[in-house]
Amino acid sequence: MAAGCVIVGAGQAGFEAAAALRAEGYQEPITLVGEEPHLPYQRPPLSKGYILDTQGMDEIELRPTQFFADHRIDLVTNDRVTAIERAERRVRLASGPAKSYDALVLACGARNRLLPIDGAKLDGVVYLRTLDESVAVKQRLKDAADIVVIGGGFIGLEIAASARSLGKSVTVLEAQPRLMPRVVAPLVSSFYDALHTGRGATVVCEASVCEIAGERGRARSVRLASGVSYPADLVVVGIGVVPNAELARDAGLETGNGIAVDEYLQTSDASIYAIGDCAEHPNPYANARVRLESVQNAADQGRAAAAAIAGRRAKYNAVPWFWTDQFDVRLQMAGLSQGYDEAVTRGNPDAQKFSVYYFKQAALIAVDSINRPADHIVARRLLASHAPVTPSQAADETVNLKSLSVPG
Ligand code: FAD
Repeated sequence: MAAGCVIVGAGQAGFEAAAALRAEGYQEPITLVGEEPHLPYQRPPLSKGYILDTQGMDEIELRPTQFFADHRIDLVTNDRVTAIERAERRVRLASGPAKSYDALVLACGARNRLLPIDGAKLDGVVYLRTLDESVAVKQRLKDAADIVVIGGGFIGLEIAASARSLGKSVTVLEAQPRLMPRVVAPLVSSFYDALHTGRGATVVCEASVCEIAGERGRARSVRLASGVSYPADLVVVGIGVVPNAELARDAGLETGNGIAVDEYLQTSDASIYAIGDCAEHPNPYANARVRLESVQNAADQGRAAAAAIAGRRAKYNAVPWFWTDQFDVRLQMAGLSQGYDEAVTRGNPDAQKFSVYYFKQAALIAVDSINRPADHIVARRLLASHAPVTPSQAADETVNLKSLSVPG
């Protein structure tokens, strides 16, 4: 009997790979192993709807239990793959048994980057990656008054917005000179600074956090190198993630900033694929090897790996896109803006509805849309078709950008 496909990690990417394998008509056994004790679920609500009680568990789970039985997906939760024995084509599970594979998919995701300062282990210092961590944050938010969020990236800002919406006092501490500096233009950073400040949060950039001070084991304040302290009975740390690449590295697979794969998402062992947050892949929209952390990337790579395993191998070239919801403002990003040399604005930032178009050597490489969903959809088309949009066309509201996308 064929060993089939084993998928390590039952998050967004692993789930998509399993479901897409069946949709592709794959008939062999599929085993989906996840170390968390839950059904595969979506992470985006964990910092927003779930904390705010607008989304319940049933909306967070990717599929109910029955789906896995119906699709003959052997879902193993609360268990961990501890080693890959490549010569024997099998993986070892923490619970004991070995599991053979014909194809192996590593969808191991990423884990929180830990804050390396004094006081980081005090009670009241929390992170947010998993459902269990979100449950804990939600519970602690009920009693906390002063929330300090360390990190002004997407997740930190989403938690800050949620906490502020719940009426808490919120301070965001960002080490860089502006919010989300690596991924958005200064105009977008300033917009978000004003948004959070306008809703009553305190935003401090160039904040060098040096200590979390406590009392009887509990966090009480966060101190900066400048000497300024901010009271805190809850400190949420959102300073990025580290890819879970150790399993691959220990098995002798190539790793860099994640598990290294080629344009077909294959690792240095052709029977092993890596997808989602853990995979460093060559991305045509970046013209470089990158590791992306988004639902789109996890889902599209899951589907691409499944197609390859089912015999429909194609280069991975999906347009990257991402969204973040903070208060009632939705930012949607298409493409990758790193390395841009010109940015123009369409729409009106004062009305909280505008898009920023990023160009590199006169070619459109990315678009950030704030409360302009139609711009985002058009942007994905423009990027996918490499449409010859100019900065002046992008900035001119009278130009119908949709008409510039190249049919293909
Ligand atoms: P993960 O979802 O991390 O899943 C990997 C799974 O593998 C984990 O459950 C892990 O425990 C398990 N695992 C790891 N090693 C092993 C092993 N050896 N054995 C068994 N299991 C293992 N993206 C957006 O596009 N928009 C958003 O608004 C957005 N909001 C987010 C909010 C939060 C709070 C977080 C944390 C993320 C958010 N993201 C958002 C990012 C998005 O959720 C991730 O990019 C996506 O979940 C990545 O999916 P993945 O399957 O690669 O990794």
